This record gives sequence, structure tokens and C-alpha cells, in this order.
Amino acid sequence: METLAAMDAKLAALRQGYECSCGQTHHLSIADIEVAHNVLARIPDRLRALGLEGPVHLIADTNTQAAAGAQVADALRQAGFSVSETVFATPDKALVPNEPVLARLFIEVPITAEVLIAVGAGTITDLVRFAAYKMGKPFVSVPTAPSMDGYASAVSPLIVGGFKRTFTASPPRAIYADLDVLCKAPMWMIVAGFGDLVGKYTARADWELSRIINDEYFCQSSLDLMAAALELCTSNPEGLSRREPHLIQGLMEGLILSGIAISMAGNSRPASGAEHQLAHYWEMRSLQENCHFHLHGTKVGVATPLVLSIYNRVLGFDPSTIDLGSLADSHQGPEKVEAAVRTHYGSMAEEILAESHGKRLTWNARKERIGLIQSKWEEIRRTLAWLPSAEAVTEMLTRAGAESSPEGLGLPDEWVKDALMYARHLRSRYTVMDLAAELGI
Ligand SMILES: [Zn+2]
Ligand SMILES: [Zn+2]
Repeated sequence: METLAAMDAKLAALRQGYECSCGQTHHLSIADIEVAHNVLARIPDRLRALGLEGPVHLIADTNTQAAAGAQVADALRQAGFSVSETVFATPDKALVPNEPVLARLFIEVPITAEVLIAVGAGTITDLVRFAAYKMGKPFVSVPTAPSMDGYASAVSPLIVGGFKRTFTASPPRAIYADLDVLCKAPMWMIVAGFGDLVGKYTARADWELSRIINDEYFCQSSLDLMAAALELCTSNPEGLSRREPHLIQGLMEGLILSGIAISMAGNSRPASGAEHQLAHYWEMRSLQENCHFHLHGTKVGVATPLVLSIYNRVLGFDPSTIDLGSLADSHQGPEKVEAAVRTHYGSMAEEILAESHGKRLTWNARKERIGLIQSKWEEIRRTLAWLPSAEAVTEMLTRAGAESSPEGLGLPDEWVKDALMYARHLRSRYTVMDLAAELGI
């Protein structure tokens, strides 16, 4: 596979400012990325090479401190760095990125700290990314599990006032992922990362779909960045369940590159489509009903075959057979849809309605959309011919030892039905769920 090392030239070009065929000039602000064995010991030298020599504040939880944090702190102290630490007693899994946790960080990070080091997975990294941004200090990510694709991200999902919201934050100055640490990560975290990675199939399909139908901005190079890692991991999912280092490396690199693809595109299109809307819906529902469960990537993994089954159905459909008369009779106008969204989402409805305003169509607008889709149908089918079947992805997930069905995850039937019905209103982003609704499938 084209590993990160082999991509050095590409990443260097991005750091210089890469004039892309999509019409944009892309930049990469992450100065140094390494996914390899024995990286932890090299962190002091790498920091100095980046010009970061001052006091370091390291943030971890008890598990990630044992897995990597203590080793990083030792190596830094031996190399002459001054190191202070915040170690949360709760593991990353149970840590909630909310106000009290952030307050603790703001209290404990010394004003003299020159760089923050986040040793952990999703929650720790999101917390530190946000705190670093607010404090105007650079941060370095030391991932302890290939569990999600947010390591290179420039936004932080946080729980504020009981709701999950996404805040602007800083991307890391550097990412140092040690394979010896990653290979020992809990299996449920590894398979969650795999779930987030297979979600890129439907994310890409939704983006291609919207490019064709809505003329949406599209960047092929951002997708190409992740292709090799996706290919490697999906061709040998058992290897992941056996913790084979080159596959764990491929997974971690794919997840990091997916974050870079997002920053290239300027939004999360390359990495997030209908599968993320479903996962997001379930996440919201579990927050509301106070029953946190499963990592983000696990939910994305389960949602991907669901979305693929919508694709399989939509692509097997012939829109020239649409009976406009009967669709007109059953059409739900903007007021009706708005009322249904209000009833379903309650106190959150206002924000959601504002976000997905463009998805509530009058019959005339929908008729026009159907005509547009009919005229593009051949191109849509041709472009999406690469898409795997729902069964193929279910099999990949199973082979990796990941959950592949909502039942396996313990999601109530009602949550699945509601998600398929209402999740598309959470975001203005156009996906196959909108296409299916427009065509009345
Ligand atoms: Zn994701
Ligand atoms: Zn581009």
C-alpha cells in the first residue's frame, strides 16, 4: 500500500500549498506525522526539530497514561524538558467532554506551558484540541487507539449544556502514533476505527451523488488520499482482528488521512455522508435518553450497510417509470414535513428546521428535482458502479469481528426506523436518503 512514508512528497506538496484540479489551493498545517514502531521514544527529538523546546503539559487518562503517557513523560524529562500532567481518573471511554472537564484543563495547564500533548483517543484529543485553540498553544496528538478519524481534525465535538455541538479548534501540530501502543489497544476500539473507515464508501458515494445532481463542489484528490488505506484494510479484515501491525498501521493512517481529506475539502464531505447522519441521530437519542453506548465508529460501521441497502435499492430503480400523478397525491408539503420534524425533535426542532430548510419541498419544486434526477440517471448509475453491496460490507465488518447490524448493537427497532425517517433533517448535506425521499422510494 502507499503508506504515509510513501506519501511524503504529496504531504510536503500540501504543506507548500497544493494547486488542485478541483480549483482550490489546499494547505496542510500538520507539520509532522509518523505512524511507526517505537515513535514514543523519538518524541523529544521531533519536538525540538519543530522548534518546541519549552515546558510541556501532557493530558491523559489512567489507561492511556499507562499505555503511553508515562513513557512519553519519561522520555521528555530525560531529554531535559519540563513536564506537567493532567491525568483523568476516568477512562477515555467514560470521560464526557463537557464543561467541568474543560474547566479542570483550564485550571491545571500552566500559563508557561509551550505545548500540550494529548495522549489518548477521541475524547482526550477533542478536549485538548479545543483547550489548545482557546489558549493559543500548539498541541501534539499521541493516539492510543485507531478508533476514530478525528485525530487530524480542526473541530471539536463537545457536550455543552447537555447537547453535542461542534466547535472550531486547532488541528495538531504533529501526530505521533506508536504501533506498539496501537496494536495493544482494546479490540472494541480497533473495530470502531474500522467502522469509521468503511463509512467512507457511502460518504464518497453521497458526495459524488450531490456533485452530479446539485453541482456541489467536489475534490477527487481528497478522496484519493484515503483510497490505499481503505483498500488494504477492507481486503484483509481478519488481519485487523489478529492485530497484524501493517494492518493496524493502514487503519491508523487511513483515519489520519481522512481528517486531512476533510481539511482539504474544507468540510467533512470526503468522510461523512448518510451513514454519519444515522450514527449522529443514534448518538443524540442516547444522549437524550441518558444511555451512552458504543463508540462513534461502531455506529458508523453499522449504519454503512443500511445506507448501502438504500443505494442498492435506489440504483436498481428506473426513475423513468415514476408515476407523477400518484406521487403528487401522496406528496407531503413543507408545512406537513415541518410539523412532523417538530413533533419528533421537540425542543431541538427549531435549530434542525433551520439547518435543513432546503429539504422541505413544495410539489412543484420536487417535480422539478425529479426531472433533474431523471436527466442525470445514466451518469449517476455509471459513476456509482464501483459501490460495494450492503452484503459485501456486512461481511467485511463481520470478518473484522465488528458489529454489522443494529440488532447486534442493541439499537431498538424504533431508533432505526426513526433514524431512516428523520436523520436526514439533521443536516443540510444531501445524501442518498434525500434522493430516495425525492423519488418516493
Ligand atoms: Zn466518523
Ligand atoms: Zn482539491
